[in-house]
Amino acid sequence: MGAGIAGLAHAYAEAKRGRRVIVFERSAKARGASVRNFGLIWPIGQPAGPMLEMALHSRRIWQEALDAARLPCFASGSLHLAYHADERAVAQEFAASAPANGYDCRWLEPEQAASLSAAANPSGLGGALYSTSEMTVDPRLTLAALPAFLEERYGVRFRFQEPVLAIRLPLIETSRGRHQAGRVLVCNGDDFETLYPDLFAASGITRCKLQMMRTSPQPGGWRLGPALAAGLTLRFYSSFRVCAALPALELRIAREMPDYERWGIHVMASQTAAGEITIGDSHEYGPEADFFDKPEIDRLILEYLATFARFPHLEIAQRWHGFYARHPVQPYWSVSPEDGVQVVTALGGAGMTLSFGLAETIVRQGAA
Ligand SMILES: Cc1cc2nc3c(=O)[nH]c(=O)nc-3n(C[C@H](O)[C@H](O)[C@H](O)COP(=O)(O)OP(=O)(O)OC[C@H]3O[C@@H](n4cnc5c(N)ncnc54)[C@H](O)[C@@H]3O)c2cc1C
Repeated sequence: MGAGIAGLAHAYAEAKRGRRVIVFERSAKARGASVRNFGLIWPIGQPAGPMLEMALHSRRIWQEALDAARLPCFASGSLHLAYHADERAVAQEFAASAPANGYDCRWLEPEQAASLSAAANPSGLGGALYSTSEMTVDPRLTLAALPAFLEERYGVRFRFQEPVLAIRLPLIETSRGRHQAGRVLVCNGDDFETLYPDLFAASGITRCKLQMMRTSPQPGGWRLGPALAAGLTLRFYSSFRVCAALPALELRIAREMPDYERWGIHVMASQTAAGEITIGDSHEYGPEADFFDKPEIDRLILEYLATFARFPHLEIAQRWHGFYARHPVQPYWSVSPEDGVQVVTALGGAGMTLSFGLAETIVRQGAA
């Protein structure tokens, strides 16, 4: 249930095993976090060990599904650009231990980094952490096309505009009637109110609101190459917490950039198939996050972006926000509220990265 990336990944994993699958989706098409994100498959953000393995496994399944569905993706890796001594220290420390920890990344001197990315600002660049594992998909294109692929290739049936209102197996009650099912996977994103509201209320899960922007297409087929991030991102993903040099960077940012701390801003740039640059983001937590956007946040994001990236043009064509569900301590939330029902949500800021790998784990466990 749910035609966001988590629901589609579980439908794919079940259907590949020959099971009959129906996906119920509240909206006419996916319109949650899965179509509002950067489209970044970002293993480098996952801590070494099981989560990194899940992300890399997920990436392989993404590639397989996208190839089969003939959908575009850009396996161009990522660059974390360093402009301060403390950013260099974190990135270099991470790069030194990366191969032993399962990451495919290395430190680049400024000229090498600049040669990999026409968008990287060479002024003051102290080098970059280059990783080959990151991949960019076009979220809107992909989420719109995958249902048709799953339908044609695996016979998955989609019932859009049909919210699930209650589950009492073997019955599922929707807004349009009753259906029979042997097993239900509830991939409800950040809807905590419709199904199992008490369970969600007790879970500690909350919402996170993120502001995003997108340019119009860059001219002449200009391509970004590796997705870009910089110093602020080094303090955002838990993978970098192993670095002894990180606290100094965090302290400087807290001291010098309090507005970025306040709004949880770190800045990344990816590119869509049509050539637009997707830019974000901020993080405001709470079950009732403000749904009006803050121009100040967009301004801060664009100001920081200008310190590390340049594009043929920066004409903002779209602004939007998204919400995702997030558990306070777990990387995702998977519970079984009753026999035959599995809730899988709260993948936080890594749902695109993890969903296919997580779905394999969940479906395998369900089959055991
Ligand atoms: C701005 C932004 C940027 C991000 N960038 C990245 C990124 O680059 N890389 C990355 O890995 N992750 C990223 N994320 C996180 C990622 O997008 C999410 O973790 C992921 O999309 C969550 O997928 P989901 O399927 O759980 O939720 P959703 O995409 O929200 O889908 C849930 C679906 O379930 C449906 N639904 C809910 N309740 C019912 C019901 N009762 N009946 C029927 N249907 C129902 C909803 O209508 C919805 O379509 C980002 C998120 C945001 C918001």
